[in-house]
Amino acid sequence: MIVMKFGGTSVESAAAIERVAGIVRARADRKPLVVVSAMGKTTNRLLAAADKAAAGNLEGALRDAEELRAFHQREAGAVCGPERMAVLEPALARHFGELEETLETVAKEGQVTPALWDETASYGERLSSLVVTSAFGALGLEAAHLDAREVLITDSRHTQALPLYSRTYARFQEKAAPLLERGVAVMGGFIGSTPQGVTTTLGRGGSDFSASIAGAGIGAEEIQIWTDVDGMLSCDPRVAEGGHLVKVISFAEAAELAYFGAKVLHPSTVLPAVEKNIPVRILNSRRPDVEGTRIVAEAVPSRINPVKSIACKRGITIVNIRSLRMLMAHGFLRRIFEVFDRYRTPVDMVSTSEVSVSLTVDRTDQMSEIEAELSRIAEVSVLRGQAIICLVGDAIRETPGVSARVFASLRDVNVRMISQGASLLNLSFVVDEDDLVRAVKSLHAEFFSQLDPEVFA
Ligand code: ADP
Ligand code: ASP
Ligand code: MG
Repeated sequence: MIVMKFGGTSVESAAAIERVAGIVRARADRKPLVVVSAMGKTTNRLLAAADKAAAGNLEGALRDAEELRAFHQREAGAVCGPERMAVLEPALARHFGELEETLETVAKEGQVTPALWDETASYGERLSSLVVTSAFGALGLEAAHLDAREVLITDSRHTQALPLYSRTYARFQEKAAPLLERGVAVMGGFIGSTPQGVTTTLGRGGSDFSASIAGAGIGAEEIQIWTDVDGMLSCDPRVAEGGHLVKVISFAEAAELAYFGAKVLHPSTVLPAVEKNIPVRILNSRRPDVEGTRIVAEAVPSRINPVKSIACKRGITIVNIRSLRMLMAHGFLRRIFEVFDRYRTPVDMVSTSEVSVSLTVDRTDQMSEIEAELSRIAEVSVLRGQAIICLVGDAIRETPGVSARVFASLRDVNVRMISQGASLLNLSFVVDEDDLVRAVKSLHAEFFSQLDPEVFA
C-alpha cells in the first residue's frame, strides 16, 4: 500500500484531475490511498466568503459560494460524464446547501469563530474528494470514497487540530485497509473530526500532514507528495529562480526546511513518517517521470554541499525586550515566555544578552496585547517587515568555514539576528524583508556553484 497526496494545483481542473488519474492508474498495483487537497484556490475563496459574511455582507458571501458551485460543477462535468454526474450532482447540491447554512451562521454570529473557520474551510476537501472519486470511476479507475472525518480523529483545537494517533490509526485499520484490499480509495486531506464528530482542520497546508498520518495508519510502504514543482529545491522558487533539485534529504533536514518556510511540505508531515520509518517522496504531477526528492531516515551528509537548501519566511516581527532592573535576575526569561504562551504565539528565534532578549514571531494578531503586557516588566520595541533565512544541511555542524562564507556573501546586508546550533543542522538569521531576495541570491550563488551528484539532480 502507498499513499499518494495531490495538492490544490494538481486537482485544479478537469484536465489536472485526468492527469492525476493517469498517474494513479500507473501505480494501481501498489494499492494507493489517494489524499486530495481542495481544488485550486478553493480554500482561500471559502475563507474569503466567511470573512464577508462576518463583516455583514452575506449576499457577497453567498455569491462567492455560487461561483464555487459553478466552478466545481463545470470541472466535474467535464471529466465525470453524464452518468456519474447524475450521482454526483445531488451530493454537490447537498454540500453547497450546507455551506450556505454555515455562511448564514457566520453572518448571524458576526464573526468567524475557530469552529466556523474549520467548518467553512472543510468544504474544499469534502467536495474535491467526491469529485475526484467520481472522475476516477468515469476514467475507468474504480475508486471508493473515504470520509476523512471518519478516520482522522483529532483534538478540538480548531484551525490547528492535532491527531489523536491511536484512535486515528485504529480507524484507518478498520475503515481504510479493507477498502484498499479491493482497489483505490480517495479521501480529502486537511480535515478531520473530534471524537464527538465536530469537523476540525490541521491548519493551512495540512493535507501533507493528513497524507503522512494516513500512511502511518495503513502501514504504507511509501508516502508520495505530488505537487507543482519537481521536488525540494535548493531555494524557494518564489524568492529566487534557478534552484537545483535535491534528490535525497533526511527527515530532519526536511522538517527544518518546512518549519522555516519551504511551503512544499507542511512542517508536521515528517512526524508520523519518522515514527513508522516510512520513506516520503515529493513528486511533480505535471512531470511524473522526474525522480523527485526522496526523504529518508538516515543523514545524507555531503562534503561538497554542506548546505542542502535555503528556506525563508517573510512577514517576521522582531521583539526586543530590555530591562536594566532585571540585570542578572533569574525568572526574567520565564516571565517573558509566559506572556507569549498566554497569547498562544509561537516564538521562532531567540537571542539573549545580560539585559536584553530579542526574539522573532510570525503571528502578530495578538501583538498589541503582548506588547502591553511585556511593557509592564521591561522596555519593548517591535520591528516589523523582517524575514528569516535558514540554511539547512546535516553537514553544516562539521564543516568549518560555513559561517565565514555566509557572512562574506552578506557583506552588504544588515543582519539583525543570528542563530546557530539549536538543531545542529541549521544556520539562520534575520534580515529586512527588502534585502531578502538579494541575500538569498548571493547565498545561493555561494553554496551551489558546485553540486554533489549524489545529492543533486
Ligand atoms: P500543494 O498545493 O501541492 O500542496 P504548495 O503550494 O503547498 O503545493 O507547495 C508547493 C510550492 O512550495 C511550490 O510551488 C513552491 O513555490 C513552494 N516552495 C517553497 N520553498 C520550496 C523549495 N525549497 N522547494 C520547492 N518548492 C518550494
Ligand atoms: N486546502 C488546504 C489549504 O489550502 C490544505 C492543503 O492544501 O494542504 O490550506
Ligand atoms: Mg501544500
